[in-house]
Amino acid sequence: REREIAKLYKVHEMARDFFHACLTKTKYGIQAKTYFLQRGINEKIIADFKLGFAPQSWSKLSEAFQKRGISDELLIESGLAAERSSGGVYDRFRNRVIIPICDERSRVVGFGGRVLDDSQPKYLNSSETLIFNKRRLLFGLDQAAKSIKESGFVIVVEGYMDAITAHNSGIKNVVASLGTAFTLEQCKKILRYAPEIRFAYDSDSAGQNATIRALSIIRGSGANVRIISIPDGKDPDEYIRKHGSAQFRKLIQDALPLVEYQMKRAFSEHDYSTLEGKVAVVEKLTPILAEMNNAVELNAYITRISQVIGVDEGAIRSEIHKSSGLARTRMVKPLN
Ligand code: ATP
Ligand code: MN
Ligand code: MN
Ligand code: MN
Repeated sequence: REREIAKLYKVHEMARDFFHACLTKTKYGIQAKTYFLQRGINEKIIADFKLGFAPQSWSKLSEAFQKRGISDELLIESGLAAERSSGGVYDRFRNRVIIPICDERSRVVGFGGRVLDDSQPKYLNSSETLIFNKRRLLFGLDQAAKSIKESGFVIVVEGYMDAITAHNSGIKNVVASLGTAFTLEQCKKILRYAPEIRFAYDSDSAGQNATIRALSIIRGSGANVRIISIPDGKDPDEYIRKHGSAQFRKLIQDALPLVEYQMKRAFSEHDYSTLEGKVAVVEKLTPILAEMNNAVELNAYITRISQVIGVDEGAIRSEIHKSSGLARTRMVKPLN
């Protein structure tokens, strides 16, 4: 098994170099290079991330690798090729720009491939292998590690293009969660580098839902969390390209602490002029407030909620009491 894993790393590294050479050194790579440049991704980033291109061919990679002594079994096991029903293999990635996915030790463990136009599926990722476990990986962590430690926080985005564009614009403490739901494993991995996570998911409804899910997954992990809101349905990549990195840095700075983000959502989701609305807002926020460690902060939030929705502070406190023994003993003034 150890040997099998070593072979997988090796074949992935070879494939990365193959795709990168196709992008930078061949005639058919020109259109792919143009694609990256049109997205504002410069030569340095292409080199740093070793971006690549998978040619429009069923067999360019597999034939090249067979010549170099790579077995069909290994090509299939690595997910770089699939088995033909007639025997033999064909390339999995065809006519796509290639984004190598590395682990935190910079070993290539998988690939993302994107079409150059609007055809579907837009992205094709490597399938799970012994070395490619999406739940544990964060795209760009190896490149971001230094900046994460320096800044004290990590920005988590949805897509690798978001991470790449951020790096391209000089914002380097950014990783991507690979389009899957954010996991506790990913959270724990991040916490080894910095205590704070700022989510900057797409601001469309899928992204907002993914944010909510991520927040509930990392509850209790001890992570300090903030949420970066990107205006008008955009993702970080589009936002940076349209407004520049200085504006994006401002959004990063303005990231809302978890409690404030949840308050904002609760206020916008419920009509708190009605009794049901008031109850719903308080129900939504009590568990979050009950977890707060700082009594001064907690009091400030209770006051604000009370003022916004028009419910007595005592009533809100009483709900927090019910929801948390910790709050009762440590933070919340006794009733009456
Ligand atoms: P682009 O800017 O290149 O159009 P994006 O990064 O904005 O792409 P989204 O559609 O927002 O892409 O999706 C976010 C992430 O989800 C992608 O980076 C990718 O990892 C994953 N993803 C999206 N579509 C697919 C798909 N069809 N199959 C697998 N993964 C996908
Ligand atoms: Mn999206
Ligand atoms: Mn997106
Ligand atoms: Mn995008």
